[in-house]
Order: sequence, then C-alpha cells, then structure tokens
Amino acid sequence: MNILVTGGAGYIGSHTARVLVNKKHRVVVLDNLTKGHQAAVKDLEFVRGDTSDKQLLKRLLAGYDIGAVMHFAASSLVGESVRLPSDYYRNNVVNGLTLLDAVVEAGVPYFVFSSTAAVYGEPMEVPITENHPAAPLNPYGATKLALEGAMRWYGEAYGLRYASLRYFNAAGADPAGDIGEDHEPETHLIPLVLKAALGLIPRLDVFGTDYPTPDGTCVRDYIHVNDLADAHVLALEAMAGGAASQIYNLGNGNGYSVLEVIKTAEAVAGKPIPVKYAARRAGDPAVLVAGAEKIKNELGWRPSFPGLQDIIATAWRWHGSHPGGYAIPES
Ligand code: UDP
Repeated sequence: MNILVTGGAGYIGSHTARVLVNKKHRVVVLDNLTKGHQAAVKDLEFVRGDTSDKQLLKRLLAGYDIGAVMHFAASSLVGESVRLPSDYYRNNVVNGLTLLDAVVEAGVPYFVFSSTAAVYGEPMEVPITENHPAAPLNPYGATKLALEGAMRWYGEAYGLRYASLRYFNAAGADPAGDIGEDHEPETHLIPLVLKAALGLIPRLDVFGTDYPTPDGTCVRDYIHVNDLADAHVLALEAMAGGAASQIYNLGNGNGYSVLEVIKTAEAVAGKPIPVKYAARRAGDPAVLVAGAEKIKNELGWRPSFPGLQDIIATAWRWHGSHPGGYAIPES
C-alpha cells in the first residue's frame, strides 16, 4: 500500500516508516523538520512540508495514490504544552483537522493516529485499560484526545476508518543502529540517563522521591519504539482486512521506577550513573502502566522487546554511536 507518514522524520515516525518499508509498503514521509531529522529518512521518499498546507496535502494524497495515512506530526512536550496551549491546539488540533479533511476529501480510507496515555490523566486504577475515563491534565493530552474525538465523528459522518494508538513510554532504538531518539531539548528519562552514563551531561536529576511507590520514584511502562511501529502496521492491516475503527493502549504492562531504570541502565552501560535527587516535576502522575490486552487479543500484537534491559540496550547502542544525535555522523 502507498502510505503517507506525517512526522516521519521524528522518533516514532521514522521507526515506523522503516518497518513499513521492510514490509514492502511504499512510504512517503511528510515532515516540516522543526523537530524531525532529515538523516532519519535518508532512504525514503521525503517531502518537506507542513500539515497546515491543505493544497500540499491534497497533491500528495492524489499524486502518490495514498491508501492510508499514519499521522505522527505533532507537538509532544507536556510541560511546553502547559505554557503554550495555543501552539498545541493549532498544531495538534487545527492542523490535524486540516489533514483529516484532506484525507476524507481524497477518499483515503484508513488513518492511524499517534495518541498517548496522557489522554487518561491521573489514573483511577492501574493497569489503565482503554475503558478508563479520559481526563487529560495538560494541553498535550487534551489536544490528542480532541483529535480522537474528531476521528470518531469523521468516521460516523464520512466513513473514515481509524486506529488510535495510545502510547505509554516509547523508548529504545532500531537495533540496526542508524536511527534512534534525538530530541532538542531532550526531556525523556532513558536518553538522559544514557547521556549521563556517557558523560555528555553531568548527572541525571531524579524528579521526586516521595511518590507513593515502592521506592518513592515514579513508575512508568516503557515500550520499544519498534514494537510501537509493529502495532501501527498491524492496526492498518486489520482495517484493510475489514476491521472496525479502534482505540488501543500500547505498553508492556510492566512498571519500572526511575531508580529501576537507572539501575538497569548502569548494568547495560557497565558503569555507575551520577544522579541527583530533585523536586517533583509538575504534572507527573505517580504510576502509569498500560493494560494492553486489547491489542494482544484483537490484533495478535506481541512485543519483541518486553524487557527493560533489552530496550535500554538498543538505546545505549544508538547513543554510544551517535553521541551528538543525528548531528554527528557515525564514526
Ligand atoms: N524523569 C526524571 N528525570 C529526568 C526525566 C524524567 O526523573 O530527567 C522521570 C519523570 O519524572 C517520569 C519518568 O522519569 O516519572 C519518565 O519521564 P519521561 O519524561 O521520560 O516520560 P513521561 O512519563 O513524562 O512521558
């Protein structure tokens, strides 16, 4: 199938684009490169542009005879979203609607959406299933939920078929070693822990040690980026085979505390990692763990990297060979 991947030069989009190509799909990446990296799509058909550009979208959808869109292009930093809600609503909701309009006008039948566990807000129970009430605590989660709502009603009115995948904590890198995680600024735990191990930053700040968890630090469910990518492909294949629109959680169902992540990273790196205990970061729930039985049962999704150590090992390989991210070529 010919698939348009928006945000395909970003972290999760680039890994998914690669999995699609390996499965013999034809991929066209659309990315404005504000956060994405051209080097992440060097082997792919790439168009630099923005999801706000309806004429461009129409040209791409018709010109490449697109059969499905996978939509990763979005602003995705929780803290930034609280400071800049206008930017988040414009990029994630307004531009998302422009894309949805172009998709239904072009008659593209399938849409796979990059959503987030942030739609749930503070969990009432863990593991969190898809039936948990959605009550986002920040504009990032709210804007992702808003586009999910639009997708549902576009489905009712225009027949759009969609899958929305609510990711828990994406981590790791393609084991082949030439694409990985490179955010500027980097705010995520695993890349920062590994940068501290490499001496690229002086230490890792542990945000909060007084949470109601076994060791006082936040617990998260880390999922390998290629396992996320596989889920996108399965969701698309299911729809193409006649399945109805669905929302799926994506996580491994295992929670690891910040201290457990650091300990595991020390084992992978074979060296101690300097840390500093710091205050809580605003907006962090104590525990987020996915109930991901639905996608396992309905689509047969199985993670290839269910264990934290294996996930961190792939990230370690990427950071070790690309200490400057995409900016410095592999030596
Ligand atoms: N965290 C931390 N120090 C950091 C970055 C993150 O202690 O420098 C913690 C953060 O408070 C959260 C967990 O690590 O409990 C995962 O954070 P991340 O930003 O990777 O993902 P999030 O859960 O916010 O999506």
